[in-house]
Amino acid sequence: MSQLEIKNLHVSIGDKEIVKGLSLTIKGGEVHAIMGPNGTGKSTLSKAIAGHPDYTITSGEVLLDGVSILEKEADERARAGIFLAFQYPSEIPGVSIANFLRAALQARLADGEEIDASGYYKRLYAKMDLLKIDRKFTSRAVNDGFSGGEKKRCEILQMAMLEPKFALMDETDSGLDIDALRIVADGVNTMRSPNLGVLLITHYQRLLDYIVPDYVHVMYDGRIVKSGDKNLAHELEAKGYDWIKKELATAQA
Ligand code: ADP
Ligand code: MG
Repeated sequence: MSQLEIKNLHVSIGDKEIVKGLSLTIKGGEVHAIMGPNGTGKSTLSKAIAGHPDYTITSGEVLLDGVSILEKEADERARAGIFLAFQYPSEIPGVSIANFLRAALQARLADGEEIDASGYYKRLYAKMDLLKIDRKFTSRAVNDGFSGGEKKRCEILQMAMLEPKFALMDETDSGLDIDALRIVADGVNTMRSPNLGVLLITHYQRLLDYIVPDYVHVMYDGRIVKSGDKNLAHELEAKGYDWIKKELATAQA
């Protein structure tokens, strides 16, 4: 079983510290949700783990199965098994989903190795059947003119094909309609297994009605300030975040 360990992570953008000492361990098979007010560093956390070049990790560690990934470039982290689902996926007109996914898988092979075309389509169709995606879907250009729900479907299919060890899914502020929400939830629930750990970042409790997390963490001002089970998400939905801020103020006083 795989393990992703985030240890006392500090992340800056320019000279501004955004993530201020965050620790979290995710094991294969677990779904962890991170909730928290806007601007608290949730997206920064996921992008820093994935290796986005704008985010500087000033201290701390991120270990995948005991090995640091921080020296690796974003593509190497992806190959090691980290998948970042984008809040706003890019459109790639002229490139079909089928060809895009094939290129993504090809990129993981060693030089001179070629993807087996018939094996590839067999696998693609098996994953599409599993996720209940129409065959016609993969002949469309990547995200070109897609609805929010179709973009999510495209992402979930990428995730299914790449079979990451850990998926970081940042759904904050993405204004997912109920259709898109269901697509993400059904996809993640279908893929839930001991081989996949999920970090689900969400501003709203609603998504967690569909993907029931094993753990819920509240992030505030760059740190995890409270952890619990799925009931914590309901509590946040009912009471907002202010009580957490008050609790912190009392604790610090
Ligand atoms: P959240 O996802 O919790 O809403 P973010 O990680 O997006 O929070 O942002 C945390 C803080 O970092 C905010 O103050 C935001 O303005 C700042 N920030 C995020 N991305 C950038 C960036 N690319 N350049 C400068 N500041 C940024
Ligand atoms: Mg965000």
